[in-house]
This record gives sequence, structure tokens and C-alpha cells, in this order.
Amino acid sequence: MRHPIPRAVFSAFALALVLSACSSGAGTGGTTAPTVTADTKASFPAGSTMARLQQAGKVTVGTKFDQPGFGLRSPSGEVQGFDVEIAKIIAGKLGIAPTDVNFVETVSANREPFIQNGQVDYVVATYTINDDRKKVIDFAGPYYVAGQDIMVKADDESINGPDDLAGKRVCSVDGSTPAENIRTNYPDATLTTFDVYSKCADALSNGQVDAVTTDNVILTGLVSQSNDAFKLVGNPFTEEPYGIGLKKGDDEFRSFINDALEESFGNGTWAAAWDATAGAITGKPAPEPPTIDRY
Ligand code: GLU
Repeated sequence: MRHPIPRAVFSAFALALVLSACSSGAGTGGTTAPTVTADTKASFPAGSTMARLQQAGKVTVGTKFDQPGFGLRSPSGEVQGFDVEIAKIIAGKLGIAPTDVNFVETVSANREPFIQNGQVDYVVATYTINDDRKKVIDFAGPYYVAGQDIMVKADDESINGPDDLAGKRVCSVDGSTPAENIRTNYPDATLTTFDVYSKCADALSNGQVDAVTTDNVILTGLVSQSNDAFKLVGNPFTEEPYGIGLKKGDDEFRSFINDALEESFGNGTWAAAWDATAGAITGKPAPEPPTIDRY
């Protein structure tokens, strides 16, 4: 008598195959991410954002272009990272193939305006959910929880946490929660801001600043690109729950994205996306997925 392979065992095997395929070709943008397939049978209420995007067969997503592990554009124009994979998982549930996801760069300060004026359909860009931002846009998620940390030169022993920033020159990005936190809670630090974190890394390299502060996972990506010149202090001092930004009041779309995220948490696609991208850079296995906030 034949013994059919139990479905769970088979799925685990299939996932293992995908992951082993992913482990080749590691680079600064991570490994080759698992292929997301478009759900061609999805059906949505007429007039909904989901129906409109499904009908269009393509979607425009805002992400970062200079953050290894989350959103990094290669010289050939390909964008890779955990945020990129999350965006593709959502698009797949709309019946849109990964190749029909058009990524545009959203730097920290232009995420809300790009959503508000319809330049993007949604934003997946290391985007912390908070009440200030919720006044003008809505968030699905969270799909990951990061924490603000500090990056310094590898030989710097003088900065071990945010209190050591007093009297130091620290760099962050306009329109980001870490910059706001330094301004409000660590006023004795001298804050310099740029539009993107890669410029802060350059400023640390050339001695213009003593430290860079933002989310630990972003800094880990920059450390990985630094040829051992930088290190992460490794003492996170906030919680940064990452959400998907979307138009304020589009509750149907928010709940659709929340369902898509929850499904990806449960069926292994979220963890596989992590392993192939941010996991490859941080060297950390996928954490327990967070609980979706269905506000
Ligand atoms: N997660 C923080 C924020 O949304 C910092 C990272 C970023 O600027 O993208 O502001």
C-alpha cells in the first residue's frame, strides 16, 4: 500500500527546497528571494482598491533604494530586500506577478505625501506605525518590529547607548522617527540630517559625524557594506513596528493587506522572504511574526 506524504511534510520539504535554492548567490542585497506566485483566481468587491489594481494588472509601490536587506537597488536596477518581498506577497494576492510590481523610491520624508497624492498604491519602506502618521495615512501590519540603535566607527568605544550621544555629532534622516527621538529626548546631541541613510554612512566615513542612528536592521545593512569600518552598538532603545502605508480611510484595502500578511505569517512565505533577504544580512533566523493591529 502507498503512503501518501502528509501535506504539512510535503510543504516543509517544498519550502526547504526553496530555501536551499535561496542560499546560493549571497550578496549585499541578500540571496535570491523565493518566487511569489500571483493568485489569478482572486475576486474582489466592485469599486474596491483591490478590484482596481487587479484590473490594472500592475501596482506602484514605494520602498527604500539604499537599505541593504530591506530595499536596495542594484546598479542594474533590480530592487531587493525584505520590504520588496512583502510588497510582492501583497501584489500576488491581488493577482499581480512580481514583475508587474513597479518600485519607486520613497525616502523617509516623502512617504506620507506619496501616499496622499496617489503617486504610490502602498508603501513598504521600514515605515514605523505611529499616531502622528496615522493622522494622514493608514497602516496595515505590523509585519516586523525593529528598534532604534546607533552605528559608530569600528574602533569607537565612547558611544554605547543614546546617553553617550551628548556632545557628539549624530546623523539621521529627515522625516524619520529616530531623528525626531534625538531632537526631543537627546537634545545635547548635535543632529545632522540627510534625505537617506547612505549619506549618513558617508558622513561617518569621512569624519563629518561621530554616529548614525536609525533602526537596528537598517544599520546592520550599512555595517555589512562597510568593510568592517563600522559597527552596531547593539543596544536598541525604542520599538519600531513596521507597517504598510496606504491611503487614509481605505479600510477594505487595509484589511485585505492584513489578511495577506497574516496568511504569509502562517504558510511560511514571510519567513522564507526574511531568510532570503534581511536574514541573510543579519545572520538571524526569522523571528516570531508580530500580531497584526486591526485598529
Ligand atoms: N522606522 C523609522 C521610520 O519610519 C526609521 C526608518 C526610516 O526612516 O525609514 O521613520
